[in-house]
Amino acid sequence: MSHKEFKQYPVQDLMYVTPRPELVFTEGSGMWMTDHTGKRYLDYLQGWAVNSLGHSPQCIQDALTIQAKKIINPSPAFYNAPSAELAALLTANSCFDRVFFGSSGAEANEGAIKLARKWGKLNKNKAGQNRFEIITFNHGFHGRTIATMSASGKPGWDTIFAPQVPGFPKAELNDIASVESLINEHTVAVMLEPVQGESGVVPATREFMQALRALTKKHNLLLIVDEVQTGMGRTGELFAYQLAGIEPDIMTLAKGIGGGVPLSAMLAREEVACFEAGDQGGTYTGNPLMTAVGLAVLKTLLAPGFMDTIKEKSAYLSAALTKLSEKHGLDGERGEGLLRALKLGKDIGPQIVDMARDMGPVGLLLNSPRPNLLRFMPALNLTIEEIDQMIAMLSEVLTRIEKQNK
Ligand SMILES: *Cc1c(COP(=O)(O)O)cnc(C)c1O
Repeated sequence: MSHKEFKQYPVQDLMYVTPRPELVFTEGSGMWMTDHTGKRYLDYLQGWAVNSLGHSPQCIQDALTIQAKKIINPSPAFYNAPSAELAALLTANSCFDRVFFGSSGAEANEGAIKLARKWGKLNKNKAGQNRFEIITFNHGFHGRTIATMSASGKPGWDTIFAPQVPGFPKAELNDIASVESLINEHTVAVMLEPVQGESGVVPATREFMQALRALTKKHNLLLIVDEVQTGMGRTGELFAYQLAGIEPDIMTLAKGIGGGVPLSAMLAREEVACFEAGDQGGTYTGNPLMTAVGLAVLKTLLAPGFMDTIKEKSAYLSAALTKLSEKHGLDGERGEGLLRALKLGKDIGPQIVDMARDMGPVGLLLNSPRPNLLRFMPALNLTIEEIDQMIAMLSEVLTRIEKQNK
């Protein structure tokens, strides 16, 4: 096979938004990706936790080709079968009753924010005023639209595109008093990630989730879980809210539900699903091409025994990371299911990412959302051998860095 050189790809015409290595990825299969030179990489990014079943799985290839031959987009003004079937399967396997489909996590979260504000207009405070404030969390991440950036608690995001959308006071994760102190006559909801993903895999505790549910019930507030990263089996349960045994009012999904294609969902309980005609929509909402893929992904997760394999593999990964941490004098690991972080104890994350990617003959793709941390978000169907292989490669990189820094 002959390969193009990097210079032959017109990448300079892409708008700059992030630094990228001089690699063009041309093929993917399961946990593996191949670049323009033919070099293979073990991929622990998986498109940022979107490839829940790995790169180009057969069930997604089939869903896309079969559906593309039938119908791609009848328009959101008409029903189509895959979107209805996917909604029915999601509601049958969760505490929610109604589903709105979108194309990205940010779009699903925008929908959740709109639904909560609409509900706060129909369920006014004692003074007869609309309720609109949604309590969110420091270090939270909800997307890159103006409203979802405002809801996020990423340092610096309050000023980059100022002015923000008002109405998102920030509490501290796992500190129920910090939430309670922000509740006022305008509050309508509390919104959080059950595991803060982008901020470095920081789980909300079971006790905190349960206390939040009790507190929001007491004050007649909605509880919104952003499960864009934690939903669809990632944590070992189908949805992360199930880990705490609670039932939220609204949930958003994206990333894993599409297995790599753009699909998101916003789910609500019947009493909360208060949109009227014209309130919400979108050209691509519930298009059959993407929802056919979502259906294939969800059916795979629901196949007998599949969720048990996620629990087994996450226990194995957790133990292997703990052992690696001990071997190299690191700070341990944390996470839920197959969303895990290795705490490095020093700011060597970016150096590890570059060395692991550039090592030969095969590379390793890792993510360092904070300089003192690595995040692992593999395909949910990876093999034990692919965990062992990653640990061996990462250990080699750590040994090299130890030698360099001597
Ligand atoms: C990735 C992510 C989003 C944003 O999703 P996009 O599809 O990039 O818009 C929102 N919330 C959480 C928790 C995420 O991890």
